[in-house]
Amino acid sequence: MSFRTGFVRDLSAPNGYSALVLNADYRPLSYYPLSLWSWQDAIKAAYLNRVDVVYEYDRLIRSPSISIRAPSVVALRTYVRPVDLAAFTRFNLFLRDEFTCQYCGGRGELTFDHVVPRARGGKTEWSNVVAACATCNLRKGAKTLEEAEMSLGRMPRQPTSEELRNAGRRFPPNYLHETWLDFLYWDVELES
Ligand SMILES: [Zn+2]
Repeated sequence: MSFRTGFVRDLSAPNGYSALVLNADYRPLSYYPLSLWSWQDAIKAAYLNRVDVVYEYDRLIRSPSISIRAPSVVALRTYVRPVDLAAFTRFNLFLRDEFTCQYCGGRGELTFDHVVPRARGGKTEWSNVVAACATCNLRKGAKTLEEAEMSLGRMPRQPTSEELRNAGRRFPPNYLHETWLDFLYWDVELES
């Protein structure tokens, strides 16, 4: 159960004319994965009056029959209540732990550690799994915290989707179109 954290940077490779999708309150529908639609879906939704087009790409998309500007940011007209509980996935667990070993605070290649070892009845759930570097994971092995004489920076628990959204803001995907930035960050640097 280990995988590289480097893939964060590949999460949203430049994807021709994707539209950032905002909720009706102009906050992104989701950060992880970042809510993006294909330009075809965005145009269809705009045509059906389900979204307002907030920004468009400068370049035209041309085909033999049409020539259009793809939306770069769209906002839903009807507010969608975000799901309150974050899904228990490997990615979300790393996100909760901010891609940091919960024992030593190290980064780099991370694994998962069962705080109460599985052999001792520890379950694979939010409250018992933490991100751990390979060194700490090896050191802890199948021992309890006391036996391993190790401690956690904070006790693991189920995050709310709001907490994950906030954590996601600190780990943005690599590719962000300029018109998305206003909606993703409060403190984005403004180009002069
Ligand atoms: Zn560690």
